[in-house]
Amino acid sequence: MRRFSCQCGNTLYFENSACLRCGRTVGFVPQQQAVRSLEPVGDGLYSVDGRHYRMCLHYVRDRVCNWMIPEADPEPFCEACRLNEIIPDLSQPENHLHWQRLETAKRHLLYQLMTLGLPLTPRSQQKDGLGFAFMEDDDNQQVLTGHAGGLITINVREADSAYRETMRKRLGEPYRTLLGHFRHESGHFYWDRLIATNGHELSAFRDLFGDERADYADAIARHYAGGGMDWPHHVISAYAAAHPWEDWAETWAHYLLIDDTLETAVDYDLIAALPDNLNARLETWRELSLMINALGGSLGMPTLYPFVYSDPVIEKLEFIHALLERQVPLQTYPGSTGPSPAPTQTGANPRTGV
Ligand SMILES: [Zn+2]
Ligand SMILES: [Zn+2]
Ligand SMILES: [Zn+2]
Repeated sequence: MRRFSCQCGNTLYFENSACLRCGRTVGFVPQQQAVRSLEPVGDGLYSVDGRHYRMCLHYVRDRVCNWMIPEADPEPFCEACRLNEIIPDLSQPENHLHWQRLETAKRHLLYQLMTLGLPLTPRSQQKDGLGFAFMEDDDNQQVLTGHAGGLITINVREADSAYRETMRKRLGEPYRTLLGHFRHESGHFYWDRLIATNGHELSAFRDLFGDERADYADAIARHYAGGGMDWPHHVISAYAAAHPWEDWAETWAHYLLIDDTLETAVDYDLIAALPDNLNARLETWRELSLMINALGGSLGMPTLYPFVYSDPVIEKLEFIHALLERQVPLQTYPGSTGPSPAPTQTGANPRTGV
């Protein structure tokens, strides 16, 4: 994730709604892929580079979003919030905070998907389009985080760090984050779009990940009953060994993690540029992740990135990299109301064309 700049010169972060130095209201302008300072012009409108925007209703009313909407767009919600199908029950006092965390992780994911040029068609435009349901367990039903027919369901309690840590330990996972859930589930979403619909991609997928027609329920049950121990030789995580779909989603999530973290490292001048070539990128990532783990150790944190890649995992990452390179890179994205204004210094997308 990049940093952005206020017109006063102060650094702005992706989640900011105000500049902490000059006090200006700020918002993320999807058409510019940037957090910008906003000049109020009355009637709830704000000017950025001479164009007018409104705040998303979940920004102005609920304070869980910081995205802007072009004045001419009649939708009350921004590109990210209009994907919501179910939001948490706000009569539960802790849920506002949990919702904020869910929305922050969701927008972080969506920003990256946009920069990769991936479609974010909503369910209002397409039956199995992208949607999010943030749901809670009740007396009758336990909510399983997962994906079905375009809809990504996240159990709201995953936004509670104590619950998430309990689940992490119970399931024997080395790493469990809210953003990681979003990345993983987006993998299932794009599998349906990029792999299932294309015979050539599907056969290449099966060669690498295995045949996804294997019974899914059986495979998951076998995994939780204590599956094979040789997974480090061919997949990225124990869960990835459960079924080819989970292998795909886990590998996809790692691809996004690496891509995003390298972007952050470029932005902080830790590395010169994001290498185009995947092998060079993984070599850079290996060195960077060792540094991240060492820095985390000095901070008293457990190993922040506890993964190593076997050769088959690298081949799978290569497959995802090549697949994404074949997607249309970001020029404008669905919902954009025309060509973006000329990128400013803060609005430049360093990855256009990648
Ligand atoms: Zn400022
Ligand atoms: Zn919004
Ligand atoms: Zn999954």
